[in-house]
Amino acid sequence: MNEQQLSETTISCAGCGVKLQASSPDMPGYVPESAAKSEHVICQRCFRIRHYNEAASVAVDQDDFLKLLGSIGTTDSLVVHIVDLYDFEGSLITGLGRFVGNNPVLLVVNKIDLLPKGMNTNRIRNWVQKQAKSHGLRTVDVVLCSAKRNMGFEHVIDAIGRYRGNRDVYVVGATNVGKSTLINRLIRDYSDMERELTTSRYPGTTLDAVNIPLEDGKSIIDTPGIVYTSRMAEVVPRTFLGSLLPDKPIKPLVYQLNEGQTLFIGSLVRFDFVEGERQSFTLYISNALNVHRTKLERAESLYEEHKGELLGAPTLDELADIPAWTRHSLRIRQGEKQDVFVSGLGWIQVNGMRGALVDVYAPKGVKVLLRDSMI
Ligand code: GDP
Repeated sequence: MNEQQLSETTISCAGCGVKLQASSPDMPGYVPESAAKSEHVICQRCFRIRHYNEAASVAVDQDDFLKLLGSIGTTDSLVVHIVDLYDFEGSLITGLGRFVGNNPVLLVVNKIDLLPKGMNTNRIRNWVQKQAKSHGLRTVDVVLCSAKRNMGFEHVIDAIGRYRGNRDVYVVGATNVGKSTLINRLIRDYSDMERELTTSRYPGTTLDAVNIPLEDGKSIIDTPGIVYTSRMAEVVPRTFLGSLLPDKPIKPLVYQLNEGQTLFIGSLVRFDFVEGERQSFTLYISNALNVHRTKLERAESLYEEHKGELLGAPTLDELADIPAWTRHSLRIRQGEKQDVFVSGLGWIQVNGMRGALVDVYAPKGVKVLLRDSMI
């Protein structure tokens, strides 16, 4: 069976029943062409579950995701919502509370290993609590962790045990927040050889889920991740992700800027200090990105002449696949410390004791906003 045949048939996975396809590795039912030859074909996700006891999250669009949340709303369960601390506003599922009904929501904030060294995590936790509340999300608790570096994981296990009672647990999140990394840690913690992972189907949907059996007959259920297209990672080519997403604790970069100065963050984002007294701006971005300072009046011509080269990545080839910029004008109120947040890129902290007007140029569709400072 080749890719063409797979896309034309309605062959279903012998494991979970989802329609098989060979074109999108991140979408449900993916099977590599080479594996599609046997009689009972199973999707890559079921293959990993059977052979490695390992879950791989798949992605779904907004409509399917809302159906899925609706079906969780009809159950009696604990909902564990995983967000990415580095892309908090980009990965928070706003409206989650409305869709999951009366079920309690435990907020698990992943990737805390990316915070600069020596941070006060209590302060971060309070900040998360406040932000979640301001987005209308009521939570029973907030837990910080790093699934990849195994930090704070015991608190995640504790909190799940404490809040689930004798209910099932649904784990929900956007793509790329580290949901499969966390689920696989949970599998190692909760499963033993006699209790195998299984898949199931959400009522009224074609979406399958991975179940981790618990001792009391209940399960932890992994759900497909929602794709949010307003995040930088979704609009840049995959080749650029290595530079965009930090893998080590961020080293903040401090710039003292005068009115009328510009910072280029690689060739990806332009930040103009349009109006205000001299003050400091602190960049919390991947340290693999190049930062270049110039005069605002020179910014446009400099960009045209040197994008993809002197200014740094993305390369000209990569830029050709990235949407053109839109400008966001933001006013930082006097006396307030705020972050200019660019979803998936990081944020720029403005110590707004003096107030400031800034313009941010970012690829069209990427979420850019002002928020209370995280740090
Ligand atoms: P999913 O799409 O939500 O299932 O996310 P994955 O588990 O596939 O992880 C997405 C990316 O985030 C991968 O590159 C992971 O290595 C990375 N990642 C996951 N957890 C962490 C973490 O705790 N810290 C850091 N720095 N990266 C993480």
